[in-house]
Amino acid sequence: MPKPIIDPKKCNGCGECVKICPKEVFGKVKGKVVTVDENECIGCRACEVQCPKDAIKVQD
Ligand code: SF4
Ligand code: SF4
Repeated sequence: MPKPIIDPKKCNGCGECVKICPKEVFGKVKGKVVTVDENECIGCRACEVQCPKDAIKVQD
C-alpha cells in the first residue's frame, strides 16, 4: 500500500498537498498539515511533485 510521509521539519503548511491530492489524504489539524486518511492513498505522487519544500515522500 502506498503511504505518504510528511517531514514536519520541512513542511511550511502551505496546503498545496491538501489541494492537489485527489483522494483527500491530507488535511489541516490545528493549523498543521497532516495525513488524515493515508489508507486512501493511490500512490499517484502528485503531492510529492507539488510540495515546494520537498517534505513529502510516498512509500510504496
Ligand atoms: S505541500 Fe509540502 S510544504 Fe506544503 S503543506 Fe504539504 S507537505 Fe507541507
Ligand atoms: S500519492 Fe497521490 S493519492 Fe497519495 S497522498 Fe499523494 S497526492 Fe494523495
